[in-house]
Amino acid sequence: AKEQGRNTYRFFKPEMTAGAAERLRLENALRGALARDELKLQYQPQVRLDDSCMYGAEVLMRWHHPELGIVPPARFIPIAEELGLIVDLGAWVLARACRQLAAWDARGLLVPRLAVNLSVVQLERPSLVEEVDAAVQESGIEPDRLELEVTESMLMRHAEQVIANLAALRDMGITIAVDDFGSGFSSLAYLKRLPIHRLKIDKVFVDHLTANANDDAIARAVIALGRGLGLEVIAEGVETEVQADFLRREGCAEAQGFLFGRPMSAAELEAFIADGGAV
Ligand code: C2E
Ligand code: CA
Ligand code: CA
Ligand code: CA
Repeated sequence: AKEQGRNTYRFFKPEMTAGAAERLRLENALRGALARDELKLQYQPQVRLDDSCMYGAEVLMRWHHPELGIVPPARFIPIAEELGLIVDLGAWVLARACRQLAAWDARGLLVPRLAVNLSVVQLERPSLVEEVDAAVQESGIEPDRLELEVTESMLMRHAEQVIANLAALRDMGITIAVDDFGSGFSSLAYLKRLPIHRLKIDKVFVDHLTANANDDAIARAVIALGRGLGLEVIAEGVETEVQADFLRREGCAEAQGFLFGRPMSAAELEAFIADGGAV
């Protein structure tokens, strides 16, 4: 469907399977979702493990479809990428996130940093840097309060434009986190040369901490790698005190997960902060 471009609609054909018809319905609805104001942002707290203080939040996109309800990003982001819509959606998320930070600043609410997910489609575009710069400039926030999350697998494609974009973003003062770290078979020598600031231990390794010796070893190795390369480490998907204790003991500085806070609306995050932040 990619080559059909973003302004062409595909039509239902009788021979389509239920899955294909459903997918087509999502495609067509997604094209107008932004204009119809159906996309919302949620914020999930990121906390320091030593004192449980919130130092930031990850921005997660939600699509409120009038009939289907909330469509999860895992369902609509791949479609948005295929249709090229992710470029507009991604720019919207960046602008909204920066504006939200500025709005919180104006009200004296301290959210030091927001982390925004980037799609591989955005990361490989030469205009990414301009788009990020525009969002930052328009909001007036300091660029070091914006973090961009790129997955390990995106980096391992070794695309020239990706390296150039990361370097330009770094020069601008933006920080980069490597999402879903640990499952992408990074070349460590290559990793060392990239302008990255943080490794995010993939939830799949956090899930079975202390119950699976292999996962314990992987988490320890990522934490040690971060220490060795001078990178911050954050664990994602932390749901239990047992997992948090393990990570704290092993020297992982930061964490994110249902234990500390679920993804929530801006208003809910404000209440969360007023309540004293995490736990
Ligand atoms: P991700 O970047 O790995 O985001 C973390 C996902 O784990 C989120 O799912 C979050 O709600 C979920 N999560 C966080 N803590 C826990 C926990 O303790 N337990 C469990 N079971 N889950 C937890 P979500 O919001 O459904 O997002 C899924 C994926 O969609 C994200 O994975 C990210 O790859 C993508 N995504 C979300 N928003 C955006 C966006 O604005 N742009 C792009 N390009 N991708 C996005
Ligand atoms: Ca992420
Ligand atoms: Ca992740
Ligand atoms: Ca993940």
